[in-house]
Amino acid sequence: MTTDRPGQVLGADSTIGAWLDDPRGAEVIRGVLAASGMTEASLPALRDVSLARLMKQSGRVLPDGAIDGLVAKVNDGRLPAPEEVIGREWQERVVPGRFTGRTVIVTGAGSGIGRATASRIVREGGRVVAADVIAERVQSLEAEAGAAGPEGAGVVAVVSDLADPDGVAAIVTAAGERIDGLANVAGIPDDFSPVHETTDEMWRRVFAVNVDGVFRLTRAVLPSMLAAGRGSIVNVASEAALRGSSAGAAYTAAKHAVVGLTRNCAFMYEPHGIRVNAVAPGGVLTNIVSPGAAWSEFGSGRIGTVGATPPIAVPEALAASITFLLSDDGVNVSGAVLPSDGGQSVH
Ligand code: NAD
Repeated sequence: MTTDRPGQVLGADSTIGAWLDDPRGAEVIRGVLAASGMTEASLPALRDVSLARLMKQSGRVLPDGAIDGLVAKVNDGRLPAPEEVIGREWQERVVPGRFTGRTVIVTGAGSGIGRATASRIVREGGRVVAADVIAERVQSLEAEAGAAGPEGAGVVAVVSDLADPDGVAAIVTAAGERIDGLANVAGIPDDFSPVHETTDEMWRRVFAVNVDGVFRLTRAVLPSMLAAGRGSIVNVASEAALRGSSAGAAYTAAKHAVVGLTRNCAFMYEPHGIRVNAVAPGGVLTNIVSPGAAWSEFGSGRIGTVGATPPIAVPEALAASITFLLSDDGVNVSGAVLPSDGGQSVH
């Protein structure tokens, strides 16, 4: 027995927090960290993430049975049944049929928040036009979630660069005449540079994807939504849209622009039955990577002085917020900027 809760023991689906709260579990986690080159400083941020997810996300090729080996180590050689596992990671609750008959475009659908959103919409009956610039990512999503038939649930994979106007056109063509929802999720970070270090290239690239792409795709879906007299658009902003201390100048300005676009569209199209909202994530465990440049020491050092933030969320937690607003459950909400950040925005 590894915990003082009778009948409950650690498993692969237990969170890092649950593992750390157990003396034998904590020892195992420290070993995992040491082997993967991570520091103990990263642990508080990972409290809500399961061991299985952390190992998968680490990107290391694990030998078969590696996770089972760790679980057995804290359970006297035994692997627990699922119902015995303590402190499981949060699980999404799919709402059957919430998107049945609906076509929703999701950008950045190959990874992280976009992938979790696309997957959930398909499992709730929707047809998802899943766009990403990386072909293998959307193709693997299509293989995993199933390809859509002409009317039914499933994925239509589109490989497209949102920074390119032709890429935007390809997404709308793939969607067809009916577009019920749009989730503008794709985005790239900056290099944390403050204005005096920000290059024209970094500024343009971050705006091209995070602002121009959102603007052009929104413009392209609106004729269909206006004709139907209904539609729901959700833009993914960031904590960096709410404050100045989360990122570099380019990303902060771009995400503030996303909020401005959200509010203007919500106002303009309210009489036409089109709701437009934004979700502002805090830290999320995804594949987001800096676009090619080393982090600015000046900027990252300054941001590093900001106090502790809530633990990193799993992408499915963001998909829950996004799909709520996309679906009819968000019926009375438009123009909102919903922080989905474990409470960080009130710090
Ligand atoms: P991610 O990198 O895991 O996924 C983003 C996806 O977008 C990738 O598959 C990528 O290939 C795709 N993409 C990037 N540029 C593209 C382009 N030009 N055209 C088409 N697709 C493109 O990252 P994520 O964390 O899931 O990010 C999703 C959104 O969430 C972004 O807008 C990001 O700014 C925002 N966000 C993330 C966090 C976080 O901590 N992860 C925090 C706040 C906001």
